[in-house]
Amino acid sequence: MPGRDPPGAAGGLVNGMGYASTRAVALIGITAHVVDVEADAAPGDAQVHLVGLPELSVWPARARIRAAILNSAAAWPDARITVSVSPVIPGYAAAADLALAVAVLAAAGVIPAQRIMGRVFLGELALDGGIRPVRGVLPMVAAAVRAGISRVVVPAECAREAARVPGAVVMPATRLADVVDQLRHGVLRDHHDQEPEPEPAPSSSFAVDLADVPGNPAARRALEVCAAGGHHLFLSGDGPATMLAERLPSILPPLNHEAAREVAEIYSLAGHSDRAPGFAPPLSAPHHTSTAAAIFGSVAGNRPGAVSLAHRGVLHLADAPEFVRPVLDGLCRPLDSGQVHLAGLGRSARYPARFTLVLGARPCPCPEGREECACTPEARRRYRARLALLLSRVAVRAPVEWGDSGARAGESSAAVAARVLAARVRAAHRLAETPWRTNAEVPASDLRTRFPVAPEAAELLRSEANTGLVTADGLAWLLRVAWTLADLRGADRPQLDDAAGALELWKGADGDGAR
Ligand SMILES: [Zn+2]
Repeated sequence: MPGRDPPGAAGGLVNGMGYASTRAVALIGITAHVVDVEADAAPGDAQVHLVGLPELSVWPARARIRAAILNSAAAWPDARITVSVSPVIPGYAAAADLALAVAVLAAAGVIPAQRIMGRVFLGELALDGGIRPVRGVLPMVAAAVRAGISRVVVPAECAREAARVPGAVVMPATRLADVVDQLRHGVLRDHHDQEPEPEPAPSSSFAVDLADVPGNPAARRALEVCAAGGHHLFLSGDGPATMLAERLPSILPPLNHEAAREVAEIYSLAGHSDRAPGFAPPLSAPHHTSTAAAIFGSVAGNRPGAVSLAHRGVLHLADAPEFVRPVLDGLCRPLDSGQVHLAGLGRSARYPARFTLVLGARPCPCPEGREECACTPEARRRYRARLALLLSRVAVRAPVEWGDSGARAGESSAAVAARVLAARVRAAHRLAETPWRTNAEVPASDLRTRFPVAPEAAELLRSEANTGLVTADGLAWLLRVAWTLADLRGADRPQLDDAAGALELWKGADGDGAR
């Protein structure tokens, strides 16, 4: 590694000046890179040269660091200081301010250079020398620990989050002046009392329950099938679609450790660590006025969007036809690839986005609460047609309606979740030697070659395809759902009834499956 142990480090100070190196972490998308920050002080004009930072960030970084040092009662070094960051990372951000500042001060001889080696410093500097919280502390600290650097200095607000990384020794910092003081006197206090708790067993609990949803047996069944197979769902009509979508996570199996970690890192990068769902599959339900950047994320700010906050969980679009077209059509990419790829400003980033999609749509564009609908059939058709691209990827449809309030309470989430889990275990067992875990993930070619259904079931679906109502893509979805229905009954492979059931779910019980 460059700069890890250069000649003159930690002691080669000339007239109190010299060389110092430390570490920061840069994030590109959700991927964290540990970077070397080196500073060299030489006699000359008092100025700072930043090397290896993206052009756009150099000036503000230099201004913040200079002001923060001056306002931390440390004199600005009377020397020509060169700070270099390597490797050059296009996504480098203000989280590196603190590392740059301590490197400058160590090179200038204000703090002993050896005390900043072997540590990672994270934090954005305020002009007054305060240390501001940064997003993405969880993936950044995890990367540092993986790189063998367990001692991390982080903004105090982020200390709890950092301490969740097993093996991290966390020092919370509030002001640059305190960090300088503690480094000078060798009393940098690491948080040994925040030993990470042993990892709990995956489990989840929810504030909502399927038992709360009145009536709607078809939609409840559709929800269960989607949970069991990982299929996307379309709920149409005026009814408790949002209640059902909000309860989908409560019947999904809890996340395993790896998935929970992925989700926690995304929430950290989004600045929502406090809302991270733990082992519960997350629910992300953006409003239909959301911009494409809010939905897909922003590479400029390295901020994941709503689709990534749904990773490993559920993305619910209520009033789906009301979303802007770039959002509706843009969703096909993450649906097909399980990730979002963004590029711009000379940067590019990928964010994970593998989720179960639940679309809700009322029958027409009438404002909610209007008594009488005056929409023409053509207006209704155009409204629904906005979803056409998405619906070609949705295997299950069901109508929702506000039933009579006297409807019998439905089953609890726990009862449904038990059946879902059993079906998932069955599918996972069958798919054990493959990269896929749910029926929804199995590619069409493998459905044909590796997982044949019973002849009568195949015959029924083929005849349906011959009528021209079901496309080749549609046929693959029918096969996947047929497998899920077989898994839910505990059968070895889909029979005629499963194929018929898949067709019914595909069309939607009200025959409203227009696509
Ligand atoms: Zn209407």
